[in-house]
Amino acid sequence: MIRLLFLLLFSVFSTITLAFNLYGQVNKVDPPFWWTDMPVGEVQIQLYGPNIGLHRAQVDYPGVKLVKQIAVDSPNYLFVYLNISSASSAGIIPIRLSRESTTLTVDFELKRRENRTNKNQGFDASDVIYLMMPDRFANGNPDNDTIEGMLESADRTDPERRQGGDLAGVTQHLDYLDDLGMTAIWFTPIIENDMKPEYGAYHGYAATDLYKVDRRYGSNAEYKMLIDAAHERGMKVIMDMIHNHIGDQHWWMRDLPTQDWIHNIDEYMQTNYQGSIVADPYSSDYDMIKLVDGWFVPEMPDLNQDEPLLTDYLIINTLWWIEYSGVDGIRMDTYLYPDKKYMAEWVEVVLTAYPDFNIVGEAWAINTPAAAYWQYDLPGQGDGYDSKLPSITDFPWSFAVRDGMTEEFSWENGLMKIYYMLGQDHLYANAMKNVIFLDNHDMSRVYEHVNKNVAAFKMAITLLLTQRGIPQIYYGTEFMFGHENRGGDDEAWRQTLPGGWTDDTRSVFTEKGRTESENDAFNYIRRLTNWRKTAIATHQGSMKHFVPEDGTYVYFRIHEQQTVMVLVNTSNEEKTLDATRFQEVLGDFTTAKNVITNTSIDLGATLVLPSKEASVWELKDEL
Ligand code: CA
Repeated sequence: MIRLLFLLLFSVFSTITLAFNLYGQVNKVDPPFWWTDMPVGEVQIQLYGPNIGLHRAQVDYPGVKLVKQIAVDSPNYLFVYLNISSASSAGIIPIRLSRESTTLTVDFELKRRENRTNKNQGFDASDVIYLMMPDRFANGNPDNDTIEGMLESADRTDPERRQGGDLAGVTQHLDYLDDLGMTAIWFTPIIENDMKPEYGAYHGYAATDLYKVDRRYGSNAEYKMLIDAAHERGMKVIMDMIHNHIGDQHWWMRDLPTQDWIHNIDEYMQTNYQGSIVADPYSSDYDMIKLVDGWFVPEMPDLNQDEPLLTDYLIINTLWWIEYSGVDGIRMDTYLYPDKKYMAEWVEVVLTAYPDFNIVGEAWAINTPAAAYWQYDLPGQGDGYDSKLPSITDFPWSFAVRDGMTEEFSWENGLMKIYYMLGQDHLYANAMKNVIFLDNHDMSRVYEHVNKNVAAFKMAITLLLTQRGIPQIYYGTEFMFGHENRGGDDEAWRQTLPGGWTDDTRSVFTEKGRTESENDAFNYIRRLTNWRKTAIATHQGSMKHFVPEDGTYVYFRIHEQQTVMVLVNTSNEEKTLDATRFQEVLGDFTTAKNVITNTSIDLGATLVLPSKEASVWELKDEL
């Protein structure tokens, strides 16, 4: 009897399931909601569920028009485009989906926009950006180290796996970052990366859902709260995005909307990582296709930005995060790898909708001409491409300064590399918008690069905080971290911060927990960054430099309200320079105040530069 009942129930259940599959249900709606009065009128909604593409959508809501609906190769998607006019008001839009005699309804919420004060502010040369990997910074919530149903849990015994750091850890250390003089935080991506453990997706660049914060970092709401808390104290947040690729565990990969959603889906092709190809007037189609259509690695399927449904999805996803979170800027990953026409279109849509916003593209280029190609409106450019992109990551600056601080001075090496690199700034549309840095999550740490020479390290920091551009500091560099001998290369410079985990034996977040040399580096950086907050010459001033001589280099930042002088001496001896060389800037200034020591000197016939030091001076014309 029981057995019979079971069979009966089973058959009824199967019939219901079958009915669902035939007539559809919606399992996922992207974006999950939208707003009235958005700066763009049209929104693409991707509906996903069994056979949902076989339905016809209808919308009846004041001020909202259904523009078009598109079914694709997979029957399980329907792309619905709504025009949301200013006549619409907040509420629930019922999207009716019918097929034959059945109808189902998706309730799509239209929210009222929040007040935009202190949101989407952009970032510029008045900022200092702190780059961190959330997994490696601090573990504020050990409860999310393991999430039921997600493929990887934290494993503190293996540096190539997740360590458990999260957004709560950042929120708990906002005071610390504020005190360090950081005005903006760039997180490596915080969106869901539910990848297999052996892949090591703690870095965040293998997205598996573009609308969800990874639950091991927190939630969407927590991310928004963190940004609100940063804004309250005058700090900004930059979101890391990737439009070149996704992770192979992305839910799209189980059921691709269209056959051309991903490049080379049938036969694996890897990119050649040769970003210089795009600007190269002699490049071959073979190389270009490999660069743009090849996969970054086998776990990262390459998105096809020639598919308009996909690019609309990516644009709407971007606008959704900007509006939802209030985030101030975007750092776009692997900028040289996607379709460049699409990237320019994406930038234009975002910056038209949010004019104060800023975007920096990761333009990993070997030299200035290759990097400058990617900044907007480059005059006299070979192929006429206008990227529209305001900011680029200035790798040539990084390479030159890292070498400049260690190499012996010669006509070609040491400080001359910096001098020649800056001399090419005429190629940039606006080098003041370049993000400059000494190291990041993909490069060896600067302290290691300068052979753990403290003086060279401090000189490099001084240049970072006084030269043109938007400075970025990589977490751990404030403690002069070198490499740890563990795991692969990446792991050597992606260590966790002691004190971020409850079982750590010391905390670098406190003066007492830091070693003497860590405090030395920390205090030096904090002093400069906090001075820099009000040093308008470093934010807006023009730059003037003099030909380096004999291991010395003198440059100025000049603004009508402030003139800053930087004296660099990489040689092993004290140098005395004839000050008449600098008269065009020194002019009527009578004294100079050292911004680190607060001591003043009278400006006379000579300038004395101690060995292995870069000093920063504010010029004054009265005592
Ligand atoms: Ca955690």
